Amino acid sequence: MKSNKQNGISDPASYISMIHVEPDCIDHPVTREILARAGNIPVEVISEDNHRMPDLGFYPKSLTAGKRHLLLGKNRGRFFKPCPGTKEYICCDYQVLNIGMNCPMDCVYCILQAYLNNPYLSFFVNVEDMLGELTEAFTQNPDRFWRIGTGEFTDSLALDQLTGLSRVLVQFMQSKKSAVLELKTKTDVVGNLEGLDHGGRTVVAWSLNSPVIVAREELRTASLDQRLAAAAKCASWGYKLAFHFDPIIYHSGWQDGYAETIERLFATVPKENIAWISMGCLRYLPALKKIAGQRFPNSRFFHEEFIEGLDGKARYFRTLRVEMYQFLYQQLKQFADPATCIYLCMENNEIWQEVFGFTPDDRGGLPVMLDEAVNGRE
Ligand code: SF4
Repeated sequence: MKSNKQNGISDPASYISMIHVEPDCIDHPVTREILARAGNIPVEVISEDNHRMPDLGFYPKSLTAGKRHLLLGKNRGRFFKPCPGTKEYICCDYQVLNIGMNCPMDCVYCILQAYLNNPYLSFFVNVEDMLGELTEAFTQNPDRFWRIGTGEFTDSLALDQLTGLSRVLVQFMQSKKSAVLELKTKTDVVGNLEGLDHGGRTVVAWSLNSPVIVAREELRTASLDQRLAAAAKCASWGYKLAFHFDPIIYHSGWQDGYAETIERLFATVPKENIAWISMGCLRYLPALKKIAGQRFPNSRFFHEEFIEGLDGKARYFRTLRVEMYQFLYQQLKQFADPATCIYLCMENNEIWQEVFGFTPDDRGGLPVMLDEAVNGRE
């Protein structure tokens, strides 16, 4: 397994150099499957007195080394929770399915650098408990429609070659008429999605950015061409697609960059397959600037002017956000299918009005708009 933007293969799982296993998971069937796929990657069972997770040195340098160490353990808490949106901004009522933490890719702006309390990658092998929780939630709330994503604390497909989880989830969701699963990624690791009876209940989604941001600020991710080629494959297998322009980053030549990405997107992917497209300008916890600044001293985009938003995160000034959203929206509108829901992530009614000329409430609310975008196409 190799991983870079030049050689046409981009499997971030190949970056892992050591797998650690919690002692009570070593005989779990999912652990055994992962270790069988891991080939020559060394494996160590951790224990209180014997092997512990390695000391990777000082934070935040340890974040870099931590991306090579995968811990297989059990999730002893809840797998399934509402996305932690904030009440000050319009949120899409998304549910997070926590499959593991952290990611072998390395985006300069990644919020996880400031959010997680250890540097390692982790994957939860007790998949049976995860599916049990989902079944319970669907059964107890028969009238509710759920939009579920696994890409909140990790990338949905970054470890999929090792874990095979996407096949399990897609097949589980296939018959669930009251829910849709979104697999959100910056990889082109879609091989496991081929040949499945997905029943239209899985949306495969990519984060996109201007070519220069992809090349400079998103380390070990698939190139733009690789992402779009993978999306086209998924469309040919009948999947619905989604794209997220998030974070939109102000940089020299941003208009040309985002316009080029949008053109390439619609030149590669059938527009009818696209359920939704989101836009969200860069926002970050104050701690992130310091951490990313130490890890990536050559990155410049944190040096723009920011204000503190109502959620305590730094954001661009409103005028710049509106200018960028309006520009991208005009580009998207030229090509997008009218049934695709184009929306803003974590913005308020005034910004919606300025960008789109309406607010979500005018159309029944953002969750309703998204539910219709996916269910109206069956
Ligand atoms: S791909 Fe996503 S989760 Fe992984 S480093 Fe980039 S932003 Fe973070």
